[in-house]
Amino acid sequence: MVSSTSESIPRVITLDGLSGSGKSTLARLLANQLGWAYLDSGAWYRALTWAALEREIDVKSAEMVLDLLFNINIDSKKDGAVLVDGAVLTKELRLPEIDIAVSSVADHLSVRGELNEQMRNILKQNDTNGVVADGRDVGSIVFPDSPLKVYVEVPLAERAKRRFAQHQSIGADVTFSDVMEALQSRDARDSQRGDAAPKAQPNSRLLDNQNNSVE
Ligand code: C5P
Repeated sequence: MVSSTSESIPRVITLDGLSGSGKSTLARLLANQLGWAYLDSGAWYRALTWAALEREIDVKSAEMVLDLLFNINIDSKKDGAVLVDGAVLTKELRLPEIDIAVSSVADHLSVRGELNEQMRNILKQNDTNGVVADGRDVGSIVFPDSPLKVYVEVPLAERAKRRFAQHQSIGADVTFSDVMEALQSRDARDSQRGDAAPKAQPNSRLLDNQNNSVE
């Protein structure tokens, strides 16, 4: 069991927030500096979505997506890179078709439960000193005992600017307003997920990440 000063305190730092809030950049850097594993939970949802689209599985069917999840192996490396059946996925996870389909995959409660379980296993791996996780519900549902929960806040327009630049860097054929609309609809979907909806917990620290540098 991995622990810090006591066996009962998990070495987990969580950063939650909406899409494009910069939490992944922060989490990756923090994990790197601590020598801990970085867990990008959004990338796990994206990887499962990618596998579903590859196999032409209906992402709206909870049964089919759950069945798929039991039949593939999703894992992540210490730097957060996600693998499906041993193959690292990078740019393919950021494609606009994944942006669209991932919300349907993430809507299935049964799928979330199983994916969360698989993500928690990262903490149990022998070479893991600790985990910095980011997502929507990593502080509330995935690692509720995390001793340090951060909730990252950035206004929509700024998040859209950042996500658009990300799409441009991989040559995706989308306009700024496409990105803005996709973010708005994803925010709306994310906020309808009950306990898994992104929100600060009573013991979260709020981080205004609009104007601060990464450091
Ligand atoms: O963070 P990212 O934009 O890569 O996440 C992709 C999608 O995965 C989000 O829109 C959200 O629907 C879902 N997600 C989730 N719970 C998490 C992380 C991501 O539902 N903890």
